[in-house]
Amino acid sequence: MGIIVQKFGGTSVADADKIRRAARRVIQTADKGYGVVVVASARGKQTDQLVADALELNPNPPKREMDQLLSTGEQQTVSLFAMALDAMGRAAISFTGSQIRMMTDSMYTKARIQSIEADRIHKQLDQGKIVIVAGFQGIDEHENITTLGRGGSDTTAVAIAAALGADECEIYTDVDGIYTADPRIFKNAAKMDQISYDEMLEMASLGAGVMHPRSIEFGKKYDVKIHVRSSSEDKEGTRIIHEVPQMEGVVVSGATIQRDLAKIGLIGVENVPGNAAKVFAHMARAKVVVNDIVQTEISPEKANLSFMIGISDLIDAKKAIEEIKAELKCDGVFVREDIAEVSVVGVGMRSHYGVAETMFGALAQAKVNIDSITTSEIRISCAVDEDQADKALEAVCLAFDLDKPARLRRK
Ligand code: ADP
Ligand code: ASP
Ligand code: MG
Repeated sequence: MGIIVQKFGGTSVADADKIRRAARRVIQTADKGYGVVVVASARGKQTDQLVADALELNPNPPKREMDQLLSTGEQQTVSLFAMALDAMGRAAISFTGSQIRMMTDSMYTKARIQSIEADRIHKQLDQGKIVIVAGFQGIDEHENITTLGRGGSDTTAVAIAAALGADECEIYTDVDGIYTADPRIFKNAAKMDQISYDEMLEMASLGAGVMHPRSIEFGKKYDVKIHVRSSSEDKEGTRIIHEVPQMEGVVVSGATIQRDLAKIGLIGVENVPGNAAKVFAHMARAKVVVNDIVQTEISPEKANLSFMIGISDLIDAKKAIEEIKAELKCDGVFVREDIAEVSVVGVGMRSHYGVAETMFGALAQAKVNIDSITTSEIRISCAVDEDQADKALEAVCLAFDLDKPARLRRK
C-alpha cells in the first residue's frame, strides 16, 4: 500500500466547513487505495491568538511554557478532524506529537526534529485507519513539549513522509502553488510549475512563508516529493524537485521579503583576535540564531561588527551583548528593528553577471535606500527600511520580469 501525507494549513481547517472539505479530500485519496496520514495546523489565526494571550500576561514568557501553550492549537484541530472523518463513516485516529514520539532537541520555540517512531503510525494504517497528526510539535528527551518555529507544521509533514517512506507529501494551503514572490504583496507574481529544493530552501529561509525552511531540508535529504497546492481548488500546484531543467537565460527565479528581523551593530569593537568569537559564542549560548554577519575594520585598533537576528530573539540577544559589552571594549551598540530584507534567488546567478547591477538599479529607481548587502552563490539580499519593503519587492520583481512565467522572461 502506498502512503500519502496530506498537510492542511491554518486557513484550510479554519472552521467546521473547511475541516469537512479537507476530510473529503483525504477520503478521496484513501479511496484510491492509499494509506493517508494527515498533518494539521492550528485553526485559522489561533496560534497568533495564543501568542497574544501569553504576551498579555508576560512580555517575555518562559519559552518552555510558550511551547506548552502553542502546541494546544494543533491538538484541537487533530481531534476535530478525526471526529469529522468519523461522522463521514471513516475510521480515524489522532495523535499529538508526543504520542508518536516526535523527538526533538530542547530548543523551545525553534526545536529541531531528531527522530520519529513510525511504528505507531504504520500499525494504525495497517488497520485501515486514517491517521491525523498534530503539526508543529514534538517532545524532548525529558518529555517537555517543544515546537518547531512558526510555520513548522510543514516540517512535521515532510519529516513524517520521510519516516514512512511516503509516495508524496501534499501541502494544502490558501494559495494554489509557489509563486515568484508572495502574491499577497506582489499581485502579478507568476506561479511556478516546479522549483528546485535549493531555490525553495533559499526562498523559504529568506521569508517566503509558504513553506517552512526545515521542511525543504528534510525533503531534499530524504528525497520526499513535495506538492504545494490549493485546499479549495482541485488543480496542479507546484512540485518541489531536485533539478529543474535550467531554462536558458533564467537568472532569477524568485524574490522575497523577510520581516521580523532586527539588526545589531557593535561600533568600534577592539580589533584583537578572539573578539568576534566571544560575541558569537555568547549568542550561541543564548540560543540566538545569527545571519548576515558583517565585520569591517575601521582603523588598526577598531572594527564595526553587525549581524541580523529574528526579532523574537532580540531580548535574549540584547542581554547577551550587555554581558560582554565591557569586555569587547566597544564604543557603542545600535539596534534596528524597523528593518526588512529584500532578496532575489536563482541558481542561474551562478553563471550570469549583472544581477547585482539590475537589483541595485531597480532599488535606486524606486528611491529605496539600501542599508546593507549580503550575497551567496544563488542570492542577493538588501536590508531596507521596513516601510519601503513592499515597494522594494515590487521594483525588484519588475526588473527581473517575475510577473512572467520563466520561459517568457528577458532576464
Ligand atoms: P498555511 O497556513 O497553509 O501553512 P501560510 O500562510 O503559512 O499557509 O503560507 C501560505 C502563504 O504564503 C500565502 O498565503 C502567501 O501569502 C505566502 N507566500 C509567501 N511567499 C510566497 C510565494 N513565493 N508563493 C506563494 N505564497 C507565498
Ligand atoms: N500553527 C503554527 C503557526 O501558526 C504552525 C503552522 O501553522 O505551521 O505557526
Ligand atoms: Mg505555513
